Amino acid sequence: MEFISALATCNSEGPKFLLFNDVPTLVYVSHIPIFLIAFFLGFFVLQSDSKNLQNRTFFLAMLTFGSWVFLDSVFWAANRSDVIMFVWSMLVFIEPIVHMCMLYLVYILSTGRDMPFRYKLIAVLIFLPQFFLVPTTYTLSSFDLSLCLPNEVFFSYYSYCIEVIFIIWITLFGILYHNKAVENKNRREMVYITSGVVLFLLSFTGGNIYGSIAEDWTIGAIGLFGMIILSIFFAYSIVRFQTFDIKVISTQVLVVTLIVLSGAQVLLAKDTTTNLILTLSTFLLVIVFGSFLVMAVKQEVKRKEELQAVTIRLANANTELKRLDLAKSEFISIASHQLRTPLTAIKGYVSLILEGSYGPVSATVQDILNKVYTVNNRMSQLVEDLLSISRIESGRVNYTFGPVQLEALVAEIVDVFFVMAKNKNITLKMKLPKVPLPALTLDGNKIKEVVSNLIDNGLKYNSPKGKVTVSLVQQGEFACILVEDTGIGVKPEDAKRIFDKFTRSSETMRLDVSGTGLGLYVGKNFVEAHGGRLDVASEGAGKGTCFTIKLPLSRAVVEGVSLAPVKKNS
Ligand code: ADP
Repeated sequence: MEFISALATCNSEGPKFLLFNDVPTLVYVSHIPIFLIAFFLGFFVLQSDSKNLQNRTFFLAMLTFGSWVFLDSVFWAANRSDVIMFVWSMLVFIEPIVHMCMLYLVYILSTGRDMPFRYKLIAVLIFLPQFFLVPTTYTLSSFDLSLCLPNEVFFSYYSYCIEVIFIIWITLFGILYHNKAVENKNRREMVYITSGVVLFLLSFTGGNIYGSIAEDWTIGAIGLFGMIILSIFFAYSIVRFQTFDIKVISTQVLVVTLIVLSGAQVLLAKDTTTNLILTLSTFLLVIVFGSFLVMAVKQEVKRKEELQAVTIRLANANTELKRLDLAKSEFISIASHQLRTPLTAIKGYVSLILEGSYGPVSATVQDILNKVYTVNNRMSQLVEDLLSISRIESGRVNYTFGPVQLEALVAEIVDVFFVMAKNKNITLKMKLPKVPLPALTLDGNKIKEVVSNLIDNGLKYNSPKGKVTVSLVQQGEFACILVEDTGIGVKPEDAKRIFDKFTRSSETMRLDVSGTGLGLYVGKNFVEAHGGRLDVASEGAGKGTCFTIKLPLSRAVVEGVSLAPVKKNS
């Protein structure tokens, strides 16, 4: 009974406020570090976000508990009966408040919202009698000089009743919320927080109840170590689940705990000078390295947060870009539809005038109308390309598949381009296989569009006296349409780019040949939708170009089998 004998020196020398010379060592170890841990933990959480209700509640809980520990240490150091009586009354008054704060905290942390008014009212009503009982002699009747302790009477145990009720309430609440929590993360966070709080309160209250009953306060002092359990559970929950949304706090708490514990060692190292020097240097080292550690972690967290913010911004920008791209496709689609109708009308009327349907046309007017017809055709092609792009990008391309004999398809297109080639003084040749290839299931119009664009390019990016050869061959598992020319060629660095929309080679830009950079993009998409490929080969600038459309022979027409377009991953 070291404690009782210490207190039994209830002499009349006057108070020794916080001078613990007569007090057992345990009080140093239990009270000073625990008071400091509670204070720093509460302070760190509050300063991280002082407007947050859960942070404020945690601070309040730590403040009331810290005050309790402080008052209890005053109780140990005091030897005046009036001081002891006053401090004791305050202790039994504050104890249930610590429990109330913890209940409030667990509620906020687990639900993320404030406690309903009815719960608060119930808690206050349970506590209210204590408020009135504390100043009366129903709690502490008198002072026992022989034991140097106040005499507790029946109602002094009311505070313990309240505390037990709150502990049960917190436990029940923890279990209830755990069952209700849907997210796994919330469930586990709840387990850590509730267990930390319940274990802390059990050890705190349990120690005090035992002290009151057995009149041995050693256990009461040991009960304070429950605070360390609370710190560990909260620190883990902070790191694991970002409770309080603070990442640095665990390091700070760890460092402060180390400082406090090594500081307590310094206070206890009374025996030898060597011991004192050793513990003092450990204490200083902990302060220095601990500060470095906290700074390093702070910087790391800051960097991570900056990176996170950039990632979020990028993701948002990406979403916005996608939205704009979609809006753009939508706009192009609407605008192109509106343009197509008048262009078709112009084409029709110009044809009729040229054919003489509205009377004879002079040679000059005919020449002008031919130019109008060509320009109108170019515009129609542009509108078609834009429409195709908006359909490709919104995944709304309609394919009409049917059996297609490639020899006939190629011959038909080449035929259309003969006049144009002749006008440009370019030789247009066609090579078909001796043995016809099998008919393939294709969207004939789409493939025609692709081949036409390739021949048109072959003529466009060529020089007079040049040559364009269109051949159809079988290469392994593919039927290949090759469009070769002797034109400006494609540099290796442009070979991939030219298949992107609105992209033209550097060579073309210099030449001032009109174009939009859309045909190959559309063509590649159409061919790939047939499970094929569109490739380009060129030995470089000025060395001609060869485009190859590869269509899989697996699309050969089989009776009764209809093929759908091949879905692309992108
Ligand atoms: P456009 O011809 O309207 O510009 P395309 O998508 O058909 O659009 O072609 C994209 C680009 O690829 C062209 O602008 C040109 O730079 C290059 N290109 C296409 N065909 C040839 C070719 N036969 N020879 C050289 N360059 C070509």
